[in-house]
Amino acid sequence: MHIPSLIEKKRDGGALTAQEIGSLIRGYVLGAVPDYQMAALAMAVFFRGMDDAETTALTMEMRNSGDVFAWPAGTPPKVDKHSTGGVGDKVSLILAPLLACEGVWVPMVSGRGLGFTGGTLDKLESIPGFRVSLAWPEMLSQLEKVGCFIAGQTENFCPADKKLYALRDVTGTVASLQLIVASIMSKKLAESLDRLVLDVKFGRGAFMQKREDAQKLADAMVAVGRGAGVETQALLNPMDQPLGRAAGNALEVAECVDVLCGGGPEDLIDLTLELAAKLVPAGKDKLRSRLEDGSAWQKFVAMVEAQGGEAPVLEKMREIHRAPVVTEIPSPATGTLTKLDALEIGRLCVELGAGRAKAGDAIDFSVGVESLKKQGDSVRAGDPVLCVHSRQAIDPAMIAARILAIA
Ligand code: URA
Repeated sequence: MHIPSLIEKKRDGGALTAQEIGSLIRGYVLGAVPDYQMAALAMAVFFRGMDDAETTALTMEMRNSGDVFAWPAGTPPKVDKHSTGGVGDKVSLILAPLLACEGVWVPMVSGRGLGFTGGTLDKLESIPGFRVSLAWPEMLSQLEKVGCFIAGQTENFCPADKKLYALRDVTGTVASLQLIVASIMSKKLAESLDRLVLDVKFGRGAFMQKREDAQKLADAMVAVGRGAGVETQALLNPMDQPLGRAAGNALEVAECVDVLCGGGPEDLIDLTLELAAKLVPAGKDKLRSRLEDGSAWQKFVAMVEAQGGEAPVLEKMREIHRAPVVTEIPSPATGTLTKLDALEIGRLCVELGAGRAKAGDAIDFSVGVESLKKQGDSVRAGDPVLCVHSRQAIDPAMIAARILAIA
């Protein structure tokens, strides 16, 4: 097929056939369609959208770009959750081992940082030795031993999403409803799940800023999931301020360790329990007890060890990744904190080095932002509201003006 003609067709608002989408995706995975053509196509999709038939064809083509998990008979139910992406959204790291405590299998295939949001895989790679690239036999034996893994797309599993995801991250093409549906659902359908819950974010720190758009995204993903025979549900959750208190790779792992050891911020715990309770029969109280009695922590440690990570450093993540400069950002006024802008915090993290400006950029695990206050808290002028962890000195007044509002 003549690829420039397909890009032009989408640019001009036409609908691509399933055959055309197949040629594009297969050619992209094989290297016959270069990144620059796929970037142009992604931008055309961003502006022109895709109809339901195109979105389904893209999702299935991406799913089939690699292996689809075939589970041995008699193995436990397979469940998973996926978030559409937010700032400080570290739920997956807690949720996978928590669910595994309930006897289900959690074959979680996640992503790296995307746009201004952090990625589960980058966070996990801040644990020295942690491997996110697993082959199928390792995945299966880890599920048998531990009950969960968190891994990335590979050359054999959703390679189309592996490439397109990295491309969208650095080409301004993330926030397309259809590309998000295809990216998420291709991975989830390739996992051959029994049950899936989708955490669909809306607000400043989400790719869908309006609730109506998040609802459309949720509806589209649920339709694709159910159409493929997976019991799928979606929850809509606001993302105006970061989830929990930490944004930035190692800082977020440290916060997950806090939760898995029975502490941590309540908003993060609540959301994790709410999502987990959609996937297993256990209620929130029982699940909470798994966080408090150390059983979810033990599963997390087992998962980290199984994937080559150095478990003994887990409780020292803040020390081993200490950024050279830690700056408190004082409140510019007395009153109520009305804005802790998740979008600006996410962008700041990327600027500090927690995300990528171009494909293949190295990640700085140590940098990020910790919020000492949450929206709705009372503050006095001069009270520290945020801590910025950076390599270079930063200007506290500029950061405050960018991120905070006090009324
Ligand atoms: N998560 C994904 O896997 N893909 C997206 O496009 C957004 C969030």
